[in-house]
Amino acid sequence: MVVREERSTEPVVEFPLVDIRGSDDGPTVAITAGMHAGEYAGVLATLKLISALESVRIRGRVLIVPIVSVRAFYARNMQLSPIDQKEVHYVWPGRPAGSHSDRLIELLFRTVRLADAVVDLHGGEFVQDLTPFVGVPWERDDDLFAQSLELARSFDVPFVDQRAVAETPIALPRALYREGIPNIWSEIGHNGLPGAVEVNLQLDGCQNVLRHLGVIEGRSVRHRPRIVGPKHWSVVTDRTGIWLPNIHAGQRVRKGQVLGRMTDVFGSPIETVTSPADALVEFLCTSPAVDGERRPHGNTWHQWLVQLVDDRGVALARKRS
Ligand SMILES: [Zn+2]
Repeated sequence: MVVREERSTEPVVEFPLVDIRGSDDGPTVAITAGMHAGEYAGVLATLKLISALESVRIRGRVLIVPIVSVRAFYARNMQLSPIDQKEVHYVWPGRPAGSHSDRLIELLFRTVRLADAVVDLHGGEFVQDLTPFVGVPWERDDDLFAQSLELARSFDVPFVDQRAVAETPIALPRALYREGIPNIWSEIGHNGLPGAVEVNLQLDGCQNVLRHLGVIEGRSVRHRPRIVGPKHWSVVTDRTGIWLPNIHAGQRVRKGQVLGRMTDVFGSPIETVTSPADALVEFLCTSPAVDGERRPHGNTWHQWLVQLVDDRGVALARKRS
């Protein structure tokens, strides 16, 4: 089916929804992808998941949205809404009379808020190199965080990012958290590439979540990622020019280490970019094109060069369920 909200004067807000109801009672799990248009591994994983669930017994209900930002997806847009230039991950639900992205997130929130758990699949956009991780919203060490962390352990990734959502603009995970809904978002895949390894990592993670919650049968494999965060550093520039990084995602850097350089269009150096801390490179901008003055809705999306996270070196204990 297609979930749709129409107004006479504005582009329609809609996304595809697969609603699978099992023969037995059980939890409702929502799995969404394609909030950001170029993050294809998650989108392709949902298509495989829909196919895989056709032939297995389901307890409860599975809601799957393969592409949240449909207009952005087919326009091959990147990160921001092509209609109102908003960063959809930063948009709070609760404004049904707002702009296109406000209405989109409101419609999505209304669709998934009845779930007992929500998994939102992301990855590195066209211009992002990224080391695989799963983001877990955190405000305090409570039962909700523990349940979300357990969902994250379904994914075979090296890192789980304990994200202090109260200190970030990230909206939907925090809104779900406030509703008491365990939720995570995967970050698997980079530079918009639909690689088979990344697609299968996303797929296996989703299936493990469903096994963990008893929606499908089988043993849920529990992985043992390192917890990173909650401290993060976003390295940004206010210069317009050519960005030449000399690091890669997943690399550990030291405070003061050169992360890359900005040059003008003739190759003359205009800025040396250094690390503010000893940290792990979570993801970085691989596009040489940086517009220091482009700040849609005040966000530093276009000035952003590197995302660093504190690696406390804490490994989760191995446990089987
Ligand atoms: Zn994303």
